[in-house]
Amino acid sequence: MRVLVVEDEKKLATFLRKGLLEENLVVDLLHDGAAALERILTRPYDVIVLDIMLPGRDGLSLLQEMRRQHINTPVLLLSARGNVNERVEGLNLGADDYLPKPFSITEVVARVRALLRRASGEHATMMQVDDLSLNVVTREATRDGQKVDLTNREFALLEYLMAHAGRVVSKTTLCEHVWEHHFDTGTNVVEVCMQRLRRKVDEGHTHKLLQTVRGTGYSLRGAG
Ligand code: CA
Repeated sequence: MRVLVVEDEKKLATFLRKGLLEENLVVDLLHDGAAALERILTRPYDVIVLDIMLPGRDGLSLLQEMRRQHINTPVLLLSARGNVNERVEGLNLGADDYLPKPFSITEVVARVRALLRRASGEHATMMQVDDLSLNVVTREATRDGQKVDLTNREFALLEYLMAHAGRVVSKTTLCEHVWEHHFDTGTNVVEVCMQRLRRKVDEGHTHKLLQTVRGTGYSLRGAG
């Protein structure tokens, strides 16, 4: 899950990034509104944390422009003031949530998590496909009641696939949403991680949840 944080207060931005990284989210950081808009128009994000007072272009006008261009990524607005008008304006322009400063990093992280769950159609902390369950809060995975031990990366990969269960997800999309650094998609980083994940999730089970769609990508599918 890739999050963009747009915040010009460098110290706060660094704290935010750190808090979100601890949640195993992939985090990009920008300090300027104009640069952020350019990025948002060219790269897919799962959630955007957006400060209102920004150099280059303010957060509200950025939000307005991205919604005008039909980019519906969930947005959490941050504001220096507990200004009611600003809050209403932000929500009218299509923000999904609003947090006045000062806030705790824990609260930002919790709200980002909630937006991610909402975006993936999951309202609960549990994700479930057949007998595979994922608790995104305790970060535990079980299949048929048996605990599955996953590394952070494997967990992130599985979480993304479960959020898009039944759909085919390309290798490029997985790189963009699950890995911190971009690498040549010709490398087999995704395949290697997928192999390990498959061994942990599917080995010993009749129905293989993780499927390769040749030439296209991967898909997580229930037996039904
Ligand atoms: Ca600011």
